[in-house]
Amino acid sequence: MRTIRSIRGLQAWRRKHENQQIGFVPTMGALHEGHLSLIRQARKHCSMVIVSIFVNPLQFGPAEDLGRYPRNLKADQQLCREAGVDLLFVPSGEEFYPQNFQTTVRVNRLSEHWEGEARPTHFEGVTTAVTKLLCLVRPNQAYFGQKDYQQLLVIKQLVKDLNIDTKIVRCPIVRESDGLALSSRNCYLSEIQRRQAACLSVALRQGVKSIQLGKRQVSLIQREMKKMLSQSKEIAIEYLAVCEAQSLKPLTVAKGSMVLLAAVRLGHVRLIDNMLVKV
Ligand code: AMP
Repeated sequence: MRTIRSIRGLQAWRRKHENQQIGFVPTMGALHEGHLSLIRQARKHCSMVIVSIFVNPLQFGPAEDLGRYPRNLKADQQLCREAGVDLLFVPSGEEFYPQNFQTTVRVNRLSEHWEGEARPTHFEGVTTAVTKLLCLVRPNQAYFGQKDYQQLLVIKQLVKDLNIDTKIVRCPIVRESDGLALSSRNCYLSEIQRRQAACLSVALRQGVKSIQLGKRQVSLIQREMKKMLSQSKEIAIEYLAVCEAQSLKPLTVAKGSMVLLAAVRLGHVRLIDNMLVKV
């Protein structure tokens, strides 16, 4: 496996592999089983796999955790090597966003609510970085986790709107045995918070189950989910919504293809999760 840090190096590598079927997995590093599941999918579908590690400063708000975001390149390189990655691209912030950088990419309506409301500059940071990465890597397929469901929809929209010739593949959420979705940020949780964090997926599963059993009134479904979350004293709910799965518009009556979206805080740690359900 090669590690390339420069943009010119990546472009030269890509030109040399013009005829390959390229699978691309963009990440911020601190790799875990969730990331590895994306890499395995790419490995299965494509002849060559590129992973990027870039802790993208543009997608962090001023009061967020950019400075202390976990970074461990050596361990990440080892995991990528073991997973059969062909190329690891690790650009520097200085080269990725040089001094006179002035272009951003924004997906309007889909970015406005939920995560976009809680983190106003987040999606513009994500879409700017992902657009640049897709232009550089020119993958046939790019793999994104359902874990960041709104991000996945925003990126699908971006690829469609800008006619980028890459297929976006959605990969299922990898969870711990108690249901907590794997995340690089889970390491911020104290032992007590970690135990309480399991409530989030339990509440979402309860919501899914209620819908599958025939409940349709969203206010009642939300009340049940809130009750489950209130069992943990430390959890503060940011949002807990039943939405139309493609537009992310909130529903008052459950119908069609839906996604249950949740964001909570446990002390200073923010967790998001979601589940899909169809009736
Ligand atoms: P990140 O490094 O957090 O930016 O994530 C990189 C990619 O991995 C994104 O597409 C995430 O949605 C995906 N991902 C993160 N956690 C998980 C998980 N638990 N299961 C599946 N995909 C994940």
